[in-house]
Amino acid sequence: MNWGRFMFRLLLACSAGAVEAFFFENFLQDLPYTYPTGIQLEDGAAYDYVVVGAGAAGAAAASRLALKGFDVMLIEAGGDPSFLSTIPMASLGLLGSSLDWQYKTIPNNISCLSSIGEQCRFSRGKSLGGTTAINHMLYIRGNRYDYDRMNISGWTWKDLEPYFLRYEGLQILDQYPASSRKYHNSNGTMKLEYFDDPRNPWHTRTVEGLKQLNIPFNKDLNGEYQIGVTKVAGYVYKGERMSTARGYLARNDVKKNLKVAKNAFCTEVVIDDDNIARGVTVVQNLQKVTIYARIEIVLSAGTIGTPQILMQSGVGPADHLQEMGISVRSNLPVGNDMSDHHLPVVIVKVDHGGLVDSLVGLTSKAPQVLQYLASRSGPLASNSLQDIVTLINTNCYDFDLRQYSGNSSLCELADMQIIQSYIDKGLVALAKPLVKQAIGFNDQVLDQIEKANENHGLIIFSPMVLQPYSRGTVRLASIDPLQPPAIFANYLGDERDVEQMVKSITFLEHLMKTQIFKKHKASILHLNLPGCPAYKCGRVEYWRCYARHMTYSGYHAVGTCALTRVVDEQLRVYGVKNLRVADLSVLKNIIRGNTASVSIAIGERIVDFLTEEDNP
Ligand SMILES: Cc1cc2nc3c(=O)[nH]c(=O)nc-3n(C[C@H](O)[C@H](O)[C@H](O)COP(=O)(O)OP(=O)(O)OC[C@H]3O[C@@H](n4cnc5c(N)ncnc54)[C@H](O)[C@@H]3O)c2cc1C
Repeated sequence: MNWGRFMFRLLLACSAGAVEAFFFENFLQDLPYTYPTGIQLEDGAAYDYVVVGAGAAGAAAASRLALKGFDVMLIEAGGDPSFLSTIPMASLGLLGSSLDWQYKTIPNNISCLSSIGEQCRFSRGKSLGGTTAINHMLYIRGNRYDYDRMNISGWTWKDLEPYFLRYEGLQILDQYPASSRKYHNSNGTMKLEYFDDPRNPWHTRTVEGLKQLNIPFNKDLNGEYQIGVTKVAGYVYKGERMSTARGYLARNDVKKNLKVAKNAFCTEVVIDDDNIARGVTVVQNLQKVTIYARIEIVLSAGTIGTPQILMQSGVGPADHLQEMGISVRSNLPVGNDMSDHHLPVVIVKVDHGGLVDSLVGLTSKAPQVLQYLASRSGPLASNSLQDIVTLINTNCYDFDLRQYSGNSSLCELADMQIIQSYIDKGLVALAKPLVKQAIGFNDQVLDQIEKANENHGLIIFSPMVLQPYSRGTVRLASIDPLQPPAIFANYLGDERDVEQMVKSITFLEHLMKTQIFKKHKASILHLNLPGCPAYKCGRVEYWRCYARHMTYSGYHAVGTCALTRVVDEQLRVYGVKNLRVADLSVLKNIIRGNTASVSIAIGERIVDFLTEEDNP
């Protein structure tokens, strides 16, 4: 490695916004593993199973089936994840990149008002590993009650726990309390560790501020209790992202047995006159082919991709399909009742005293880059402040006393999750196009953020509404399967979600008043937003209006092919034989936490449904 040449090219790449291509070109070969080689599909070829989508669930399902000796073809619309995807600190830079489907929501006029075109970003991963190749890597499994309350046979926590444990490779179990041991496994294929230290003092200050509001520190939000603030385990191993592309597909035993078609877009399921799914049509390298499944087809294209494929195949709401000119094979509420975490983006100005990284110049970052490349450690192996995660039930927080008192069993059910990230002083100006592409706020808002960032570091708080009432839909926008579908997320469609956001922001206002935040002159930025009253003219009204402007997706949408509505308890699509769905779209209720964990568990789960002898 010629470091002089490297640094020169890094500076060039950063200024040109071509970071991804640069890293890809220079360092992909340095990975300690390789992804499976892709194959060119042949028209008419047949396999035991065809799995569509190599994301969280699909990679798990296809790998396990292949390891059991089946002839499996895994179809993925994207290619390999780039080297940038493997660097934990780089996750924000992946949004809006070529690894992202770059979906946007259809405006509903009452949310996302400060996003470009009033359309919230709706990122989804497009590569091996799917969204696990671009997500924030936080490992949270949800509350046990989230599964029990679905009240579906075979889907309680007790039923699902073995599947979480099957893949879990928690490397830091010895650092957890003894009471946690029975909830974890260290030997699974998805290795999980703590992120490296970001060397940002707000990492500990955030925990300290929350402690002052009596939020307990909970070492393990996936253990006995879910409430509190924690330093969470991440999908990281030895300083690199642990996507399902790495955890499953890069395994030598999987590569030996599994066939993978990359850059292969599935357009439709081929369903015969007896309503039996026979195969799928796929566009790869501009060629359309049909491949067949001897046993079954599994759709794992995610909460957006799976309903899109089903509707293109005639499985969906009859009125919508007829309107699109598609013959109806099975009239089902596909695409209905989509539920997603959403949040108001809250920007906090802080002083930058004491920050190691207060100088933004790229040269000041060079040692960090070099450290990462040499040893996969240092701030680039961290997740900024994002691994500090808080889960609380706001009904158990006393807004007068400014103290949390979670002493009833109800308090164990969180309704708010907070994560935060940090922006160095001056960074917005330096990387404005990247920030705009990733976050999608309009210039009016971005300019205000840039100005605030001129002399201050910024902490971006994301207080997610964990149990939203609003529901959205996914529909076809075109008869052309290659066109993106219409995603009507309908954030804040239910007024109760607005009130929950105001509560969350009030909680953050209290956090600003804690000694540690006050000491560092932390204050929430009151953005000037069109149509909103000034903050001083009415705090609550201002925050309600703010929430409608600064709405942002938590990127956890579920429910578009839900259990007992579209698929049965064994994930079989009603009315069509030999066709199942295994991904996040089958979850009937959104969980209290991040969703990759449950999607991987669903991928593991379907393998038993497909292969158990007593499977009726
Ligand atoms: C920015 C962001 C941050 C997130 N952070 C976290 C986090 O910190 N922790 C966490 O647990 N979760 C997080 N999530 C959510 C989590 O990653 C997803 O919920 C999860 O990966 C969904 O799994 P899935 O199997 O349903 O779909 P995906 O993982 O999205 O996989 C679907 C796959 O299908 C492919 N596909 C789609 N359509 C087709 C087609 N027609 N033909 C062929 N292939 C197709 C896609 O390219 C993709 O590879 C985050 C999500 C985002 C976007």
